[in-house]
Amino acid sequence: MGDIFMVNEDDLDNPDQRLAEIIQSGQRPEGNLDLDRLLHHEERHSQQWARAGHAWFIAQYGFEALGGECLNRFEEDAGFSDGGYDCDPAPVPTPTPGPSPTPPG
Ligand SMILES: [Zn+2]
Repeated sequence: MGDIFMVNEDDLDNPDQRLAEIIQSGQRPEGNLDLDRLLHHEERHSQQWARAGHAWFIAQYGFEALGGECLNRFEEDAGFSDGGYDCDPAPVPTPTPGPSPTPPG
């Protein structure tokens, strides 16, 4: 059993060479995303697919996609930032202590 790589680019004269460039660069074709992180994200989708089964995964993913990518629990489970989605919540700021009370004088 092998791996399947799909690259969504138009009008490639030499797809073999393009795939080699992507692998050797270690970067996602667009977005400067780390290829290891992206492949980990896609691996998580493969596991989701295996758990749900072909038809059920497609049905559930389609339903989840209706709410937009940032509400899609499959994308959340696979890791938003690893997949190149800008959906992670902003970090909660650490509360800073206020000024010490001063006695009335
Ligand atoms: Zn994804």
